Amino acid sequence: MFINGIWIDSSDEKKIPVFNPATGSVISEVPSASIEDVSFAAESAKESFVAGTWSRITPGERAAVLLKVAQMIEDRTQELAKLETSISGKSIKQTLGYDLPYTVDNIRFIAGASRMLEGKAMGEYVQEGTSAIRREPIGVIGVITPWNYPLMMVAWRAFPALAMGNSVIVKPSSYTPLTTLELAKMMEKAGIPKGVFNVITGPGGKVGEELAKNKNVDMIAFTGSTEVGKRLSELGSSTLKKVSLELGGKAPFIVFSDADIDAATEGAIVGGLVNNGEDCANSTRYYVHESVKDKFTDLLVKKLMKVKVGDPMDPITDIGPLISSSHRDRVEGYIKKGLDQGGKLLYGGNRPTLRGMENGFFLNPAVIYTENQKSDIVQEEIFGPVFSVLPFSTYEEVISKSNDVIYGLGSSVWTKDVKTAMNAVKDLRFGTVWVNEHVPVPSEMPWAGYKQSGHGASLSAYSLEEFSYIKHVYFDLTGKVRKSWYYQIYGGQ
Ligand code: NAD
Repeated sequence: MFINGIWIDSSDEKKIPVFNPATGSVISEVPSASIEDVSFAAESAKESFVAGTWSRITPGERAAVLLKVAQMIEDRTQELAKLETSISGKSIKQTLGYDLPYTVDNIRFIAGASRMLEGKAMGEYVQEGTSAIRREPIGVIGVITPWNYPLMMVAWRAFPALAMGNSVIVKPSSYTPLTTLELAKMMEKAGIPKGVFNVITGPGGKVGEELAKNKNVDMIAFTGSTEVGKRLSELGSSTLKKVSLELGGKAPFIVFSDADIDAATEGAIVGGLVNNGEDCANSTRYYVHESVKDKFTDLLVKKLMKVKVGDPMDPITDIGPLISSSHRDRVEGYIKKGLDQGGKLLYGGNRPTLRGMENGFFLNPAVIYTENQKSDIVQEEIFGPVFSVLPFSTYEEVISKSNDVIYGLGSSVWTKDVKTAMNAVKDLRFGTVWVNEHVPVPSEMPWAGYKQSGHGASLSAYSLEEFSYIKHVYFDLTGKVRKSWYYQIYGGQ
């Protein structure tokens, strides 16, 4: 672990194994932090914040360090992509072509954007004084990240926090801590002052909870499941911490009767399978107008048959294994529930046989046709390659069904009609609506949830605001001993 600028083991010498999900074998082990280690990290981070070695230098000086780190990540893309693939199971095609370059772009944007952040206005909102707004760092931020985009999720949360002058303690998922530890090496090399960037490893239930309770931690930035997000909200309330939550999703993918079905099915495959179907924005509920339902499902299945499930290190593999054996069991459990609750299996859902990878956690994508809006596969986040296809007949019906889940993260509409698209953009209760597309989020645009998908904002300049306090500063312009409004106290004198 990297705490206060030094590399240390857990004080009680406990370790946790790290698995390769493609083979099921242990590839490394990392320390399992003790409560004392968490306290040490929190104290060090607080000391660094108070000392001002980072919090009081200029945005430009901070950006220079963060940009150096972005460059180091870019220079090590090949090696980091392989490491990310070996711990997460996502295809090397994806980590090389998307995860790593996009993460570099996210960091470069945020480093630059932090230099442009301005107070809203400096002006006279009353006759006798000038008001101004300052943005100031919050203090120590506990960043708790999931396994599905190990390095990228640190970039989305820790980098805006750092760019604003906060000190950070990252607790990566126990499944995928290795690239975050590599990041700490790069931070050290780039010259980040000691105590400003720390990484502690260990189980969420112990280490994550301790961060949320610790009095030296001023804010928790959590990306993960809705269930754990709720728990952290409760824990953070004991010290009234700000808790920023980026949580689960259940994206609808709405295909109107006039949609280009070839483009929609092409987008449906990518929307459903990107990141092995383990993406919070994956399209999972395909609402298809009844007039094009058969055409859509036939083409979808035909195209899915060409998707190659296999060794994630092989450059021709499209999707790799799920993260763990227990997660695959969970996804298979959902497929079973979907069928028990009235669904019909149109494709897949079985385990492929892959020579040399018999112990990996592979699963073929499944397509289930269902008319049961209340089915668990339609209502709950599965986080695996399961496509639920549902028919609809009217605009009002599909919008109401799309909004009828606890989540509100990503959504998409497929139509050639501008009026239909614009109405859907307005009526869908989701933080992102794509039109004739599903997935892209440029670094400049916010990624944020509605409802139980959380209430943080990642990417964009909004993520910088997330990690700062606003301070009102008021300057008296009159120089008078008794200002006009003092009559409230001195009125009678
Ligand atoms: P998770 O909630 O199980 O774990 C996330 C992190 O929290 C891990 O580091 C884990 O160790 C830690 N943790 C677990 N229990 C904890 C506890 N009691 N207290 C404190 N920390 C705890 O999520 P996951 O399975 O790693 O990731 C998948 C989830 O993340 C999905 O729900 C997905 O939708 C969500 N996600 C959301 C976004 C977004 O931007 N909204 C992005 C990526 C992933």
